[in-house]
Amino acid sequence: MSKAPARPWTARVLTLYPAMFPGPLGQSLAGRALADGVWSLTAVDIRDFARDKHRTVDDTPFGGGPGMVMRPDVLAAAIDSVMGGDVTGGDAGHADPAARTQPLVYFSPRGRRLDQALVHEVKAAGGATLICGRFEGVDERLLEARPVVEVSLGDFVLSGGEIAALALLDAVVRLLPGVMGAEESGTEESFAEGLLEYPQYTRPQIWEGRGVPDVLLSGHHEKIAAWRRAMAEKVTAERRPDLWEQYRRRKGGGGT
Ligand code: SAH
Repeated sequence: MSKAPARPWTARVLTLYPAMFPGPLGQSLAGRALADGVWSLTAVDIRDFARDKHRTVDDTPFGGGPGMVMRPDVLAAAIDSVMGGDVTGGDAGHADPAARTQPLVYFSPRGRRLDQALVHEVKAAGGATLICGRFEGVDERLLEARPVVEVSLGDFVLSGGEIAALALLDAVVRLLPGVMGAEESGTEESFAEGLLEYPQYTRPQIWEGRGVPDVLLSGHHEKIAAWRRAMAEKVTAERRPDLWEQYRRRKGGGGT
């Protein structure tokens, strides 16, 4: 029996470095799911949409300053080719009607911070088109002229959007049906309920003189669940006051 759903979750990545894909996502769980058709990946080379003989994709910023900026016309042609819009140049072979209803993401430090809620939204859309910036980023008019959502991996600067795209895709793909070994892995882990994960232990039972909490050896499932919940709350309260505050508010001001 094939694991492939009727329609795979569909990733379209616009990049100057298509050879970076699937990269690490060709391995392990994501790699097997890709081979099984649970998800699909098309890496589109933005440079294919350049119009001059030097295949130029960037130019100097108006107003001066360091670095180069990605040209809106070239990027728009690449976007339109996968979104099935007006194709203004280049190879039109990637058009997918479903892409029009799915998120068009541009990775940028200015974007909405990627979190598990956003991962679930992108997963639920059935696919996404991901734009990987390079240089100093893209011309602002492109972000206005196409329905782009900007997404940030965090408050630091990468040299390109490719690693951000791989991170988002990895987080989505592991949630697709049949990708993770145990179905519950997705519901018990960090952020599933707005809490960080409880501490985990495995063999050896004594390691470097350290044992494991007795309750975990008790075989008492209710006590184990209560301990794990209490520890998840403790870890979250200590390490992430922001998440803890949200969690308490959702629980109606309760909590410990
Ligand atoms: N000049 C920009 C940084 C450009 S870095 C600025 O100061 O905001 C080049 C590309 O890397 C960006 O276009 C973006 O696609 C990607 N990138 C860099 N940092 C990122 C982050 N924190 N999250 C997501 N993408 C990022």
